Amino acid sequence: MRRVDRIQQSLPGILTARQLALRTSIPPHSSVASRAQYSQAVAVAAPAAEEPSSSSNRADEFWRKVPMWKDVSTDEFISWSWTKKNVVEHHSRSAPENLKGILASVLPDYVPFTSNASLVQSREEFIKDIFDGIAESSMSLRIMPHVFSHINWQDPRHDPVFRQFIPLKSLIQPDHPKSVYDSLHENHDSPVSGLVHRYPDKALFLPISVCPTYCLYCTRSYAVGADTSDVSKQQMKPILKRWEAAFKYIEDTPQITDVVVSGGDAYYLSPEQLAYIGERLIKIPNVKKFRIASKGLGVAPNRILDPNDQWSDALLWVHRLALKAGKRAALHTHINHPNEISWVTEEACRKLIEGGLTIRNQSVLLHGINDNVQTISKLIRALAEDLRISPYYVYQCDMVKKVEHLRTPLQTIMDIEAKIRGSIAGFDMPQFIVDLPEGGGKRLAGSYLSYDRDTGVSRYMAPAVTGGGTKENKVYEYYDPLPPTAQMDLTLRSLGGAD
Ligand code: SF4
Repeated sequence: MRRVDRIQQSLPGILTARQLALRTSIPPHSSVASRAQYSQAVAVAAPAAEEPSSSSNRADEFWRKVPMWKDVSTDEFISWSWTKKNVVEHHSRSAPENLKGILASVLPDYVPFTSNASLVQSREEFIKDIFDGIAESSMSLRIMPHVFSHINWQDPRHDPVFRQFIPLKSLIQPDHPKSVYDSLHENHDSPVSGLVHRYPDKALFLPISVCPTYCLYCTRSYAVGADTSDVSKQQMKPILKRWEAAFKYIEDTPQITDVVVSGGDAYYLSPEQLAYIGERLIKIPNVKKFRIASKGLGVAPNRILDPNDQWSDALLWVHRLALKAGKRAALHTHINHPNEISWVTEEACRKLIEGGLTIRNQSVLLHGINDNVQTISKLIRALAEDLRISPYYVYQCDMVKKVEHLRTPLQTIMDIEAKIRGSIAGFDMPQFIVDLPEGGGKRLAGSYLSYDRDTGVSRYMAPAVTGGGTKENKVYEYYDPLPPTAQMDLTLRSLGGAD
């Protein structure tokens, strides 16, 4: 008898409900009946709802600043079903009037163009700038109400939340000649659809390719979200047959002990799907640990608190099942700026952490958003001390297309690390990382073989990432963003004005 089965038999209350809901292998598109059965399972397994933290400030109904939500109560805002109905989005099949109307309702007559407002754009010019940006972007637009409510609509161009998710044509710069979609070569390292096997002991499982909010700098822009004018997405649908091919590969590859469940975003898996994946991984003998990667805690933390939604119950249920099996499950989330954090985030973290879950955060360093010591220091403290999340990684932005205006030189991330180290406890200090182009994996930013600050080229090796012998002794190169003069040259060339 396998260990998980023994554990289930020792927990008869959970087993009975689980037998109803999960022993029958809930398919990804679960029926109404299986949803009800699963509800019984998590009702047995989940702890009672907690009172709000004394430090949380429920009086701050920040979403009411948005005119269309001025009458929305806290209970409504917390509700996941209200959230899904109020997502702000735009893609190739949307009527532009919808987004235009929403933007017109939040924007002032004039929007600062320069930080001191010596130049301004009219509201109409700014909305056109957004739509022209959407036409160029690699990501479709989708924003959760929690995020939308945290944008400073009086000065959006300089707002660190706005700039992560809403493109402006006037900010987009020509791509670096070495930037490509799928810059990390995930497709090259995928033995089956939606499973990246790059490190000897770790696999990245992509069960879904949609997210609650789309980030302009997404490294998986080749697959995530709806098609854009520039990218036909390589969608990864939540289909059991595709998932099972990935699970079989993991089962047949005993050196894989660690699995990252990402996407897209696991937040757009149903609770049943999340429970199914968790249980399936726990039952694979060689899998010792796994993480559920989700920006949901950052962009829609209200869902965790919604008493009528079971995603967080499913997550905690999986966590407890893993512990009982002698394994580890964790949540990896993605918050880049302290302005993204609210009392809702604090309460959501509290619920998960008091449920025993380990949560780690992965930030991306982004030009004009968080690329300074003060912001990253404040973020680390907010994560570690207010939310009790491990500030695990700060990433150099990947070399994917359409993100040149958001990338920073390697020197910036090293300078920030050097200035922060020593100012905060070592165990709260993130690793400052470059995810090497062409699939070299993550390396400490300062661990380069060489870094020419004039050309902006840094070189790394990754001895443990052998790619089955195809990557042995490979040298990986990361390129800083082009300096302004080179950018001007590229722009002129694209316009046919330089030779
Ligand atoms: S949440 Fe992650 S996968 Fe989704 S768009 Fe953002 S970076 Fe990409």
